[in-house]
Amino acid sequence: MAKINENYLQLKSSYLFSEIAKRIKEFESKNSTQKLIKMGIGDVTEPLPEACMQALHAATDEMGKRESFKGYGPEQGYSFLRELIAANDFKNISPSISPDEIFVSDGSKCDTGNLQELFSLDSVVGIPDPVYPVYLDSNVMAGRAGNFSDGSYNKIKYLNTSLETGFLPNPPSEKLDLVYLCSPNNPTGAVFTKERLKAWVDYARQNKAIILFDAAYFAFIQDENLPKSIYEIEGANEVAIEFRSFSKTAGFTGTRCAYTIIPKECFGFSENGEKHSLHSLWLRRQSTKFNGVSYPIQKAAAAVYSEEGKQQVAKLIAGYMKNAQIIREELTKKGLKCVGGDNAPYIWVETGTDSWQFFDMLLNKASVVCTPGVGFGKCGEGYIRFSAFNSRENVEEAMTRISRLEF
Ligand code: PLP
Repeated sequence: MAKINENYLQLKSSYLFSEIAKRIKEFESKNSTQKLIKMGIGDVTEPLPEACMQALHAATDEMGKRESFKGYGPEQGYSFLRELIAANDFKNISPSISPDEIFVSDGSKCDTGNLQELFSLDSVVGIPDPVYPVYLDSNVMAGRAGNFSDGSYNKIKYLNTSLETGFLPNPPSEKLDLVYLCSPNNPTGAVFTKERLKAWVDYARQNKAIILFDAAYFAFIQDENLPKSIYEIEGANEVAIEFRSFSKTAGFTGTRCAYTIIPKECFGFSENGEKHSLHSLWLRRQSTKFNGVSYPIQKAAAAVYSEEGKQQVAKLIAGYMKNAQIIREELTKKGLKCVGGDNAPYIWVETGTDSWQFFDMLLNKASVVCTPGVGFGKCGEGYIRFSAFNSRENVEEAMTRISRLEF
């Protein structure tokens, strides 16, 4: 008898997006005239940069010729890409990040979801609330979350956030073994300052904990004083793993390429207290379960670091950040308190009502769709998330409609 992994039965179904889809369907069946504008989606809308397209075509042609054909690539990623990442994205970091500490993958979703495999099942895991759901669900699947009742899992340490904490968590008084941090944050758009991130690095060093730092949106940071990488903080290379992605930076959500940094100084511990290199464990894991990202896609990602690529990516980001500014300004004018949108593509908005009530109001009165904050965790109740990933035309039209509303 094939018995299942019963931890999967502990998963709560993703009610959020199915409920949004249901409400949109109902709305559309009754209202066919006004175009619906979806401002809730966390997917990019603009096409790949031209430099990436050219590299993708050229690399695909190479695959069609005997002399340049490539079979399996290195599991950790081609060195041409890892060298470019180290030289460009971590150029002012000390101690430096070497290409050997970079693992290229097909997405930060897989990496943030899979990395917990390296840690013991009795690890105490800190998860911010609200949160990108992958961190929680992957720990539920592994059996680390315990039982679900009253809206939470009894073995997870929820790190509650609020307007007072700037919608980012502070280190708790109790001991955690693993903690997920996301900056710039999805869903709240908030970004850690160096001081706040240092508090986490110090906490992790004191507690021999590991920080799983999701920097998928680092490219949206505009303020030079904010840290783009956790390795800007002294000592972080001993306690932090960082995830980055080309998805939002360069429009790779459908193309798939990302990378994870595991410094060689980063250790976990076995039962007997012996130190073990997390880099070695992850290399072993990846070479067993992963066969790398395709050569053409890695070539396309490498083109992000060419002169033209850098300019085209900067233009893409500037376009989305202008959208974010328009959204933030309009909502602020309407008297709504906003977090994010200045260094992140998400705007987190206090509604003054419950999340779903505000969602319904925007849908019914403006034909605009947002994401109810409560779908990302209990602390998201009373908030909604707007995404800046959209065409300018849609953003302007949505904001014009909202400006006419009375609430
Ligand atoms: N991390 C965060 C915080 C995200 O919001 C997302 C995607 O929305 C991801 C990771 C996934 O990125 P990728 O497309 O590289 O899998």
